[in-house]
Amino acid sequence: MIDTHAHIYSKQFDGDRAAMLARTFAAGVEKILMPNVDSESVAGMMELAAQYPAQCFPMMGLHPCSVDANFEKELQMAEDWLSKYPFIAIGEMGLDLYWDKTYFEQQKESFRIQATWAKTHGLPLVVHCREAMPETLALLETLADERLFGVLHCFTGTAEEAARLYDMNFRVGIGGVITYKKGDLAAVVAHIPLEQIVLETDSPYLAPVPYRGKRNETSYLPLIAEKVASAKQMSLTEIASATTKNAIRLFFERKPTIVGQTTQQATS
Ligand SMILES: [Zn+2]
Repeated sequence: MIDTHAHIYSKQFDGDRAAMLARTFAAGVEKILMPNVDSESVAGMMELAAQYPAQCFPMMGLHPCSVDANFEKELQMAEDWLSKYPFIAIGEMGLDLYWDKTYFEQQKESFRIQATWAKTHGLPLVVHCREAMPETLALLETLADERLFGVLHCFTGTAEEAARLYDMNFRVGIGGVITYKKGDLAAVVAHIPLEQIVLETDSPYLAPVPYRGKRNETSYLPLIAEKVASAKQMSLTEIASATTKNAIRLFFERKPTIVGQTTQQATS
């Protein structure tokens, strides 16, 4: 399995990172994709990428919660990094209206700039969206073209919203929220095409049940896969294999179109 979104460089793992990663690999999670946050997260992330070159892959981007009056300076730093290292994706970036709405215009500008990077570098875009689904979809629809593709991480929307993302070559990242009763993401996932789904933990946040409220870690990814399997009425093996293929196609082969999507789009 591949954990497509985990902040394993977080201070919360400083006490047991090596042991935690050993547990993760033993649990069948072979690769971990690390989203950047801002200039302060880069050093720890790059250190892990150097330590585990076959397992831990860094992204480059600016998180919407780190967008403030200084965002252009932060973007300059990210762009400098992009020119000197082969990152796996642009991210995480996006819109967040949960914490602070002060810099919403700057968040949108930062979104547009990073989407352009994704297009020019041929990389997937890893989108964060909190309390901002209508705004994110509207913005993505102004940017969508055959060069833009990616994933909306920690997806908690409706089946209709997933379908709009699908039309724009965006996968959905399913995480621990699927194990929570509130919102019933499992019922929504039942209606999302399997080809569109990738798995993630978003460690150290959003731990799946029975660890909800505690520190999340990448070794819990099978708990999320199990819940997707029951939502899809498929076996854990089938889900693990299909979502791994989806993640490889998206991040390692960088094929914008989702499998099974071409014919559907051609006939629509
Ligand atoms: Zn994240």
